[in-house]
Amino acid sequence: MRDSQDEAPETPAAPRNPTVNPVRSLPARISFIVFGATLITSLAVTVISVRSIDAFLRGKIEQAFPSVLESAASRLDLWYDQRMLEIGVFASSGIMSHNATLLTTNPRSAREKRAVREVEQYLSYVLESFPQYQALIVLGPNGEQLLRAGLDFEFTEAMLGRTLASIHEPRLSGAIEAGDTRVQLSSAPLMGAGTAVVGSLHAVMPMHAIGEALATDGIGEFGEVFLVDSGRRYLVASAERMKSGTWTAPDVELGNAGSLLDYSDYAGRRVVGSARSLERFGWILAVEEPYSDAFAPVVSGIRRILGINLAIVLLFALAAFRVARSIVQPIEALSKTARRISAGEKGIELPHSARRDEVGILTRAFREMTHRLESNAEQMRSQNTELQRMNEILEQLSITDGLTKLHNHRYFQEQLAKDMKRSLRTREPLSLVLIDIDHFKTWNDRLGHSGGDEILRRIAEIMQRLTRGTDLVARYGGEEFALLLRGTGIEGAVQLAEKLRATIGETDFVDGESEPLTVSIGVSGFTGDERAFFEQADRALYRAKSAGRDCVMMAEEAEAENP
Ligand code: GH3
Ligand code: MG
Ligand code: MG
Repeated sequence: MRDSQDEAPETPAAPRNPTVNPVRSLPARISFIVFGATLITSLAVTVISVRSIDAFLRGKIEQAFPSVLESAASRLDLWYDQRMLEIGVFASSGIMSHNATLLTTNPRSAREKRAVREVEQYLSYVLESFPQYQALIVLGPNGEQLLRAGLDFEFTEAMLGRTLASIHEPRLSGAIEAGDTRVQLSSAPLMGAGTAVVGSLHAVMPMHAIGEALATDGIGEFGEVFLVDSGRRYLVASAERMKSGTWTAPDVELGNAGSLLDYSDYAGRRVVGSARSLERFGWILAVEEPYSDAFAPVVSGIRRILGINLAIVLLFALAAFRVARSIVQPIEALSKTARRISAGEKGIELPHSARRDEVGILTRAFREMTHRLESNAEQMRSQNTELQRMNEILEQLSITDGLTKLHNHRYFQEQLAKDMKRSLRTREPLSLVLIDIDHFKTWNDRLGHSGGDEILRRIAEIMQRLTRGTDLVARYGGEEFALLLRGTGIEGAVQLAEKLRATIGETDFVDGESEPLTVSIGVSGFTGDERAFFEQADRALYRAKSAGRDCVMMAEEAEAENP
């Protein structure tokens, strides 16, 4: 009966799913901050520790280098003193002093020849016993070579002049170029029987022989102690260094040994070095060590600290990311649920959270809230349904006659107006049947009011039974009924009216009652005149009453008979 069209319940548009740029997401930002903070901290720690290791090592090297130089210098001194002593001993040995005066460039006598042979044997013996000497040479008073043992050696004019001028006691020469090597001479005078100098003995020492005196402990594996002359040319050093020419250290005052220098060596390596002067010959004794060796602990320290710090940084960043994600993920799930709820979705179940932190509390509170929302919504839905049902009942009641359950007068009037309009539009036939019970007052008087009511109900039932579903059956007044027959012309309406009249007349309403209950009926067909439609049926009914009741009257007839 309700003919308002069903509308789909309006659902709010689902809010758009907001997406977060992964780089700007909370976990990423927190990780960046932790990464940055720990990186800065660890870099600072690295720099500080590297600096302190460097300073510590530098201090140690500054102490070690001078002592290395000191010990090398004293060993050199000792070495040279030893050589001076030796040449003196050789020159003043019995064989030499006994035979010195008999040595000539051209021995003739048997004595002279024997002297030469004895001295030669002695020199050979000495040379064999003292490997640090390359040759032993005996010069005459004028510088002529009298005897030689070992390799050939050529004295220059200048050398001879210097050597012979001061040959009264043992002495050492500076570095002398001899072919592709450098040598030093240790010299001592040869005395005859008296105190007269009759010649000189010279020992040729290759300079590399003093290398062993320079080999020192206390320097790193690759550190090197070497000797340069006042012009910084290498005198004693590794073969590789010798080939490179001159020492590469910056110019410094060498008096204060111990100052540590940073510079690049002959091979271009960064080195630390220190030097001191060797007063005996005006040479420089230097020590040098590649930076990478000297500061190997720094370098490996840097690597280790950086490695550990980087691992710590990554670990913290990862931990921060995981913590942040463990906070954000549940929040994301909650906001997703909130969006679904606001989009009107039902039956959303949040997974239970056993977390004991704030996120867990929030999740549980949210879960409780969704449950409550859900049950509230359910309650509202059932209340709505109930309300709707009540409304329908109320509406039904408002258009229904309480006694007969037929449509009431008001509803009939409304439908009559609507049906006339529709018929005008569609040209569909429409008929009206008005029924009035004859002498109902008498029936009432006999049976009582409730008995009358029962009759009214049964007549209503008969009318319902004989009419179609499309027909409108209404109680128009106290004992008056109206039928609105849709799609039915007046002939059909009269037929139905006759059938109704006959059926009611044949029905036993009261047991043992011989007098039948009759009805009078007026019928009209809709012709397009809205006002006349009801009046004609009403007049037809009036005429049916006038004609003696228990009959059906049709409007046209009525109009024709009684204009
Ligand atoms: P007629 O129509 O044949 O001229 O005679 P009548 O007696 O039916 O006429 P009238 O219209 O004068 O009387 C109608 C009676 O119907 C009056 C009233 O007591 C009775 N009536 C009206 N409504 C009800 C009702 O709801 N229940 C009962 N029991 N009686 C009703
Ligand atoms: Mg009446
Ligand atoms: Mg009546």
